[in-house]
Amino acid sequence: LLMAYDPARRLARLQVSLERAVVNARMLYEILDTVPHQRDRPDATEIKLGEATVELRDVRFAYGNGEEILKGVSFRAEGGKTTALVGPSGAGKSTIISLIPRFYDPHAGEILIDGQNIAGVTKQSLRNGLAYVSQQPYLFEGSIRDNIRYGRPEATDAEVEEAARLAYAHDFILAQPEGYDTPVGEHGITLSGGQRQRLSIARALVRDAPILLLDEATSALDTESEAAVQKALEQAMSGRTVIVIAHRLSTVVNADKIVVMKDGTVVEEGTHEELARRPDGLYARLHNLQGSADTPAEVQIL
Ligand code: ATP
Repeated sequence: LLMAYDPARRLARLQVSLERAVVNARMLYEILDTVPHQRDRPDATEIKLGEATVELRDVRFAYGNGEEILKGVSFRAEGGKTTALVGPSGAGKSTIISLIPRFYDPHAGEILIDGQNIAGVTKQSLRNGLAYVSQQPYLFEGSIRDNIRYGRPEATDAEVEEAARLAYAHDFILAQPEGYDTPVGEHGITLSGGQRQRLSIARALVRDAPILLLDEATSALDTESEAAVQKALEQAMSGRTVIVIAHRLSTVVNADKIVVMKDGTVVEEGTHEELARRPDGLYARLHNLQGSADTPAEVQIL
């Protein structure tokens, strides 16, 4: 049994399942530490995080030699505040999120965290400051405990449990056949979408990183799961710098800042009140279309 916790074996297994899966950047963030062999600049320094303000300055990016996807994006995500990215499908929201852990580097412009250009810091120190919760949480082969602890391998059992409690996952975990030792992943038990999301949030909470990147789920969960996931997210967002790809109008309305994107550019920026007041704005049009703040809102109708 002890062998099962051997990190090298765990990593080997993880890599096998990664190869089997369609590996895309979105999935990789969640396992930020496992992306191997990425070189730092020889003069790279450790990032020093204070309030954890993230700033994009005129960022341009294309995948490979393809068309430019980000065409000069600038915005500031204030430390400890929530910044919501909204805009039609293909606007470049996920691409922005993938530049922050440096899965890709901008072709021009820069990304600063607390004034430090992330191109000049070690990837390890950068990623230690980040947690990611994706739409489709990735659970690897192993126990529920292993999957949560993945957020910070040195976390104690008590810390894993505390994170699970905060993520509203503790009760459903205890209801599983072997509690925290219940196997999940391909050969383990099947969890509901909402349960997987709460495990992913617990993983982010145990990581306790100052910056949280969040890709909000578009698919509707059952009402009970939905409420639990919302509460778990509120815990995870509290006191952190959050950049969220927002699909729910309630998230957008509550954000400290909304960045409205279209075709690789920022077209509007402000709070819900400010943007809703602009009669011809993209955001105002969106808001009028969507009605109640509880509506699971997909911005793609724009
Ligand atoms: P959605 O809400 O649908 O996820 P988005 O605003 O997040 O949209 P992105 O996913 O960032 O937009 O995609 C922006 C553009 O980049 C799209 O045209 C997409 O096809 C393209 N793109 C995204 N990922 C890749 C990739 N790995 N390789 C090549 N092109 C990509």
